[in-house]
Amino acid sequence: MHTMIYLDNSATTRPTEPVIAAVEHAMREMWFNPSALYKPSMDTQKEVEAVRKTVLHAAGADGERLVFTACGTEADNLAILGHLKTRKTHGRVLIFAGEHPAVTSCIPEIERLGYRTEIIAARHDGCADLEKLEKQMDEQVDMIVMMHVNNESGAIQPLSEVCALRDQYCPSAAIHVDGVQGFLRVPVHFHRLGIQSYALSGHKIHALKGVGALIFRKDHKIAPIGFGGGQENGLRSGTENTAGIMSLGAAVEHYPDHGAEWMMERKCQLWEGIHREILEAKMNGPQIGSPACSPHILNVSLTPVRSQTMLFALEGDGILVSAGSACASHKQKISPVLSSMGLSTQEADCALRFSLCPQTSAEDIDYTIERIRTHYRMLKAYTRR
Ligand code: PLP
Repeated sequence: MHTMIYLDNSATTRPTEPVIAAVEHAMREMWFNPSALYKPSMDTQKEVEAVRKTVLHAAGADGERLVFTACGTEADNLAILGHLKTRKTHGRVLIFAGEHPAVTSCIPEIERLGYRTEIIAARHDGCADLEKLEKQMDEQVDMIVMMHVNNESGAIQPLSEVCALRDQYCPSAAIHVDGVQGFLRVPVHFHRLGIQSYALSGHKIHALKGVGALIFRKDHKIAPIGFGGGQENGLRSGTENTAGIMSLGAAVEHYPDHGAEWMMERKCQLWEGIHREILEAKMNGPQIGSPACSPHILNVSLTPVRSQTMLFALEGDGILVSAGSACASHKQKISPVLSSMGLSTQEADCALRFSLCPQTSAEDIDYTIERIRTHYRMLKAYTRR
């Protein structure tokens, strides 16, 4: 008997036991204000600093800076607007077409600061089109914003190539990477890449909601975008969310070493099963085996069955998946990410996103395939052509 099969880990994740234990510890023992001068506060501050080091290390960013924020969205906003506020030049900002609203919603504000924005096109597989990007690059570019992994297609973006192009055409431009869907699930080495900043979010990796982080190079300039008590070196005022921060530390420390490998096996199992049973199934995003294929996100169009219909049918079986991206699903329109990849309206309307975590089991996937097959056969018969 199946209880619940949760395949929407790109929307949020279930807190793991070490995370729950860390939150309890924070709430029972480490609830002091880290800025106060007595010992319990200093102990709390020490634990916050230990998490800072743990997260920097996990991102290959030892010795760089990290600001704790309330979420991935705030980290992206701070990285982009906070940096652009410090620049003397006011040229162009290039933004990848697949970015999350945490980035794209900054565009009017970026333009208010006096910059022009331009979109970096996506290819059919959801990766940035490097040939077109090369043509957009010149010394007027101040900043490039490119995500690590796209939240809908699962496409891993060609960050090393983007950094090489930047070094060649606009060496003074900063690169900000939204790592919310990539951190821990796809390797990242901040130093080796040569990017200026990297944003991440706790609740996508089994930590609490309400905590995120922005990693940035020591020599990279960022100005605050919110004002108050001057915490986090003046970059993020507001008393620290110590329970959230400690949950993030526990999530990073306990993320399984072979989590990515395991998820990739489950993703292959899921896709092969769906494809075997439903010849019409189409994978949206980099194909299995491509270096751009992430281990945890699978986007599939099951035309002609609309994603909402399949989503509710699966929910009846206790299987939770997403139609496109959860952040956009309350807005009744075709996902801009899928349309930037050239999907037809019908394909986008029939797209389901399955997102896995290291706890997803092979049995979960077998059961999901069996239920999709049964629903598809029945629903297809009722769909008008
Ligand atoms: N960036 C990407 C790629 C995301 O998928 C999300 C959330 O879905 C965010 C940013 C926003 O993260 P948060 O929910 O922590 O604000």
